[in-house]
Amino acid sequence: MSKQIAVGNSTVGAEQIRSPKSEVRSQNFDVIVVGAGPAGTTAALVLARQGVKVLLIERGEYPGSKNMFGGALFGHVLADLIPEFWQKAHVERYIGRKMISILTKDSAVALDLNSAAFKEPPYNGFVIQRSQFDGWYAQEAVKAGAVLLTRTTVLDVLREGNQVVGVKVDRSPGELRAKVVIAADGAVSLLARKAGMRRDFTADQFSLGVKEVIQLPPGALEERFNLLGDEGVSNEYLGLMGEGLHGGAFLYSNKESLSLGVVVQAHSLKSKKATIYEALDQFKRHPVVAPLLEGGRVLEYSAHLIPEAGIKMLPQLSGGGLLVVGDAAGLVLMGGIFLEGVNLAIASGRAAAETVSTALTSGKFDAQILKRYDKALKDSFVLKDLTRFQTAMPMLFNKRLYEVYPSFIVGMLEKWFRVDGQGHQKLTGVVKTMLDEETGLWQLAKDGLQAGRGLLW
Ligand SMILES: Cc1cc2nc3c(=O)[nH]c(=O)nc-3n(C[C@H](O)[C@H](O)[C@H](O)COP(=O)(O)OP(=O)(O)OC[C@H]3O[C@@H](n4cnc5c(N)ncnc54)[C@H](O)[C@@H]3O)c2cc1C
Repeated sequence: MSKQIAVGNSTVGAEQIRSPKSEVRSQNFDVIVVGAGPAGTTAALVLARQGVKVLLIERGEYPGSKNMFGGALFGHVLADLIPEFWQKAHVERYIGRKMISILTKDSAVALDLNSAAFKEPPYNGFVIQRSQFDGWYAQEAVKAGAVLLTRTTVLDVLREGNQVVGVKVDRSPGELRAKVVIAADGAVSLLARKAGMRRDFTADQFSLGVKEVIQLPPGALEERFNLLGDEGVSNEYLGLMGEGLHGGAFLYSNKESLSLGVVVQAHSLKSKKATIYEALDQFKRHPVVAPLLEGGRVLEYSAHLIPEAGIKMLPQLSGGGLLVVGDAAGLVLMGGIFLEGVNLAIASGRAAAETVSTALTSGKFDAQILKRYDKALKDSFVLKDLTRFQTAMPMLFNKRLYEVYPSFIVGMLEKWFRVDGQGHQKLTGVVKTMLDEETGLWQLAKDGLQAGRGLLW
């Protein structure tokens, strides 16, 4: 049964959480964390709680000012660190209804999970906005004792031999030293590359995402999505996103607005010489999406890269004095029907902090001791999920997933459910009438096997 929860409302601005520069200059830090996204803030929070002197550096005006994502936070790992965080953080709605839709040019078919279990604490997921959430989360780390330095960009690591001993920053004092540095600087991690932990990127390792936040008229959200109280909906879409573009789309319900956007494989944008704006426009004009947006006003627009090659783009995770966490390590689960990154970021930030804590106790910060982080990640759901679903990746690069099967599935169901006085065929009979060169039995079996291997067994 659906029930009202008191979701939190805290709003955190720059002034509330910035630490004075003098505080930064006057301290020697045990650990420097670069990037106040979910991965970096988690590492700083866990370390600060253990009394470790930790500096969290963020290039943005405040944590969250430069960050975006679709909107779904799967909170199990965060609830371990901050029980009932949804009562304190700025959470828009809990996700009680999860939909997955397949789109053709003018039609759609959807799986709609309206789950009683997802509507009960601790809830399966929440819709959040990063501009609010990241600020609140960083404030928790500051309350625990971390020092936060904003508007500061880390330019490089400082080395002594094979050991990383600090970072170079774009402002006075220029160099900051620590026993360990944690690189939590996001998808294109400058630090991991500068430290030689990560090779240069290729277009097939990333998707590009764009998102709009659209304010709806009062009451429209509840009416259009059949929502009660603080209940929310998430909808992920697969299918045609512009001519020959490969990717998907998402839509999440905030309190009074929608977060929606598209995610398109970078190589498909490049090869089709298309822009992601065309894909977003096409998605917003789709006949099943447009009515949901009627009367809406765009409040925000943002774009960001997603590392999507999973285990195949895993960098060196640890080295002397350095650990790589979150998106900087490519820790995102994208299996066609999953898009999870924040929970992996939080789990990796915590694993890194716990490893560093052991290292500080032993007084050693070399590659050997920090390698325990690799093992901790391997034993956690993070690398287990990335390994388990690595076979889903080839499926995502199968062009028939975007160009053939959405129309095939919708067409098949249209034929099956049509009532025209001719009587219904059995489903296999319907499928036989639809087989052609691109969707021959052999091809269907091969692709079915690939999808099955990727997601089902
Ligand atoms: C379009 C889109 C939709 C997504 N949807 C979801 C979703 O619904 N659910 C989900 O779980 N995940 C989603 N993700 C993935 C998720 O956003 C990431 O996995 C997650 O944000 C990773 O957290 P992070 O802390 O590792 O990196 P980030 O959140 O990217 O944080 C990195 C931080 O480092 C700072 N920084 C970078 N370089 C420097 C530097 N040199 N010096 C100082 N600071 C620096 C940045 O300003 C930023 O604050 C989505 C991603 C995109 C792009």
